[in-house]
Amino acid sequence: MAEQAELFAGGGARALPVLERRGDALFYALDGARLAAPGTGVMRGTLTVNPYVGCEFSCAYCYAPYAHSWLMERLGETGRLLRGPGTPIAFDRAIFVKRAGQSVAGAVRRAPGALVALGTATDPYQPAERRFGITRGVLETLAGMRGVRVSITTKSPLVLRDLDLLERIRARGGRVDVHVSLISTDARLLRAIEPRSPTPARRLGALRRLRERGIRAGLFAMPLLPGLTDTQESIDALFAAAREADACYVVAGGVRLSEVSWRRFLPALRALRPDLVDAYQEIIRRRSPRRTRYREKLDARIGQAPARFGFNRGAFPSMKPEQAEAEAPQLALFE
Ligand code: SF4
Repeated sequence: MAEQAELFAGGGARALPVLERRGDALFYALDGARLAAPGTGVMRGTLTVNPYVGCEFSCAYCYAPYAHSWLMERLGETGRLLRGPGTPIAFDRAIFVKRAGQSVAGAVRRAPGALVALGTATDPYQPAERRFGITRGVLETLAGMRGVRVSITTKSPLVLRDLDLLERIRARGGRVDVHVSLISTDARLLRAIEPRSPTPARRLGALRRLRERGIRAGLFAMPLLPGLTDTQESIDALFAAAREADACYVVAGGVRLSEVSWRRFLPALRALRPDLVDAYQEIIRRRSPRRTRYREKLDARIGQAPARFGFNRGAFPSMKPEQAEAEAPQLALFE
């Protein structure tokens, strides 16, 4: 498999091997990269695990591309990744696969009791996982340990493939929470802003299946997008679907867009709702009074919904509430 792309020069630093080409995407082996990293800032005290840099689901609002561009630049500077005609540079076309599963056990032992949070930056069950199995390898390692706490955030029903490991982690005194990520029940709308993600029905089906197998799982409704998925009707539909799927909790919050993410999001917004571009500039990009008013309104909308669907105010599972709140402003925590 380890084909060496002609895009890369020999000599000097060793070029990254290309594991696979698939359509217009290239998958690079990022050997030796740390799989489990101590969380920083508000994630301090957790171990974050992101087996892939880049994500095939290609959500227009994704906040992770900044880390991908940083890695692309660094690899370019060291000669490990040369850019040339046909070289994909986009977040969803150049995917880096971290092949270093063994490091996880050591990291967990060095941080006893820390939450192992899978998928804090990119989706650990994006389609590439079917072929590379890095996430499964991490879970196999964790399932061989006692009393580990694990959270998984994903949009993919592929998480069901690993039910055996999730059950084994629990059987060995550990704790597992699966956050099924979904911002709307409107499949057509999602197709426009999450072009390659699994449909809402498939995600909700996965949530229900997890619950049927006794795994603690809930709905992760972030980021709610102004004018697109943040209406009371839309939030209610999500919470109702979560209740129907027997979710243990719902988490919802607003959007933040870095410069890189805004540049990716803008074309999708212009194509879908050009009338919203100015409002986004005001309430997402600028620190304007309108932004503050918007946040207050969104908080109120999120805050009113759960009681109608049987969720009580509580704490975000696995994470200290202050971490979750800092992670996503306007966050509402219900259980
Ligand atoms: S699934 Fe998550 S990481 Fe992947 S593109 Fe969408 S928001 Fe980004």
